[in-house]
Amino acid sequence: MFSKILKPSDAVDDLKVILAKKYLYAGAWNDLYDKKQTEYMRFRMDLKSDLYKRQGGYCAYCECLTAERDLQIEHFAPKGSKEHPMYVEQQFNPLNLVLSCEDCNMTYKKTYDPVLKQQDDYSKWTFKIVHPYFDNPKDFFSLVPLDDGTKGFFPIIRKDVDLDNKKKAEETFSLFKFYEEKRITRIVKSFLGIIDYNPDVERTVKTTAYVIKMQLETKQETDKKSLIYDTLVYKKSF
Ligand SMILES: [Zn+2]
Repeated sequence: MFSKILKPSDAVDDLKVILAKKYLYAGAWNDLYDKKQTEYMRFRMDLKSDLYKRQGGYCAYCECLTAERDLQIEHFAPKGSKEHPMYVEQQFNPLNLVLSCEDCNMTYKKTYDPVLKQQDDYSKWTFKIVHPYFDNPKDFFSLVPLDDGTKGFFPIIRKDVDLDNKKKAEETFSLFKFYEEKRITRIVKSFLGIIDYNPDVERTVKTTAYVIKMQLETKQETDKKSLIYDTLVYKKSF
């Protein structure tokens, strides 16, 4: 979501048509799962393995390296539930489906409604946050470079982001809270290629995350307008 634009899956195009024809009702996604409906289960499996390859094992939102078992199929425009339906007609639309980590899906995004304006064609909808398939993250974010010249890995809102994109960039940041210490810690770990708990680097990772967080907070105090506009440089201490 902050370093490169992703490509939607085309591996389930036939199943998508079948499912949309037969099961486009509120709560279908969970209902069909409970029933272990054959076409639906194939759709899930094929979609997940195709997206896993396309995303390279990274969460579509925080871009943290995540084990396949911990990646979830996530509806960008939420499907809602049987009781509280949301974008029911987009339940099986691959343009609306990404793989995300549990944190992004269940802790931060939850049932947040990102839709600004709907049209007949989903690809023409407008959204409040950066869409992994339609928006080029480079228009919104840049990556904090390391002082030894290494390509950066921590996202900030571009200093020169244009006015139209500024709101979207800020909304994305505040929804996913990339500036929280817990999030920074995970991004640092992912940069090091670590998926699970690793006692050997835990302390260094936490220290690095703390340094980044402090710099972000200092920035916030000096620039009341926004959290993070200027380029931050911190020591790569591992
Ligand atoms: Zn994530």
